[in-house]
Amino acid sequence: KLSKRLEAVAKFVPTGAVMADIGSDHAYLPCYLIHKGTASYAIAGEVVKGPYESAVGQVQKESLTEKITVRLADGLAAIEEADHVDTVTIAGMGGPLIVSILEKHPEKLQGVTRLILQPNIHAKVIREWALAHQWAILDEEILEEDDKIYEILVLQRGQMELSTAEILFGPKLSLRKSPAFTKKWLREKDNWQRVLQSIEGAEQTPEIEEKRAELTALIRLVEGV
Ligand code: SAM
Repeated sequence: KLSKRLEAVAKFVPTGAVMADIGSDHAYLPCYLIHKGTASYAIAGEVVKGPYESAVGQVQKESLTEKITVRLADGLAAIEEADHVDTVTIAGMGGPLIVSILEKHPEKLQGVTRLILQPNIHAKVIREWALAHQWAILDEEILEEDDKIYEILVLQRGQMELSTAEILFGPKLSLRKSPAFTKKWLREKDNWQRVLQSIEGAEQTPEIEEKRAELTALIRLVEGV
């Protein structure tokens, strides 16, 4: 059975998609989507030998070798032109790692019309990357599983405008304000307040002052939303 987190990612894969799941580990997501009939073909990419072998084994075990190709490759290098991939999923990594994967082989995204990205932390850098590279947010999701809160960003090509607050909180998520959203940002605010208190008595260096201003601004942003 798929985790609640990966099931939420799966929901955003369009019917008939030719997908590439980058950092696929056991290839659970592509296996699920092929079985379900959502994806018509899938690439599972992995850069580490162990997880790559797990993916190969899983695809064989589920008798899906006709529909899923597993490749040992760094990020988007797993995608070949002849695959005609239209949907890319990258899940279970930090936002900065996801962005570095997207930036390393930009030409691999030429035929791609949808990106479904699930950062474990720092979704903000993905929104910044999207803004800078003409991708627009089609939808967003936030969910809690095993006391962790995950965000999912669904991107399609297009222009968007985002405020500073929207870059941090997500334009759709901050409108919906689901319980997981509120929980996440109250938690973050608590952390920032704790850091602020810990530097209260600290020396007045420019670095400390800058940190203090930054934290105060963040706390104000959370209070604003
Ligand atoms: N996507 C799965 C999920 O969400 O459950 C697995 C997440 S797992 C925590 C992250 C996986 O990404 C690891 O198997 C790791 O080897 C792989 N990975 C990290 N950097 C990668 C890269 N540049 N290219 C391909 N895979 C990568």
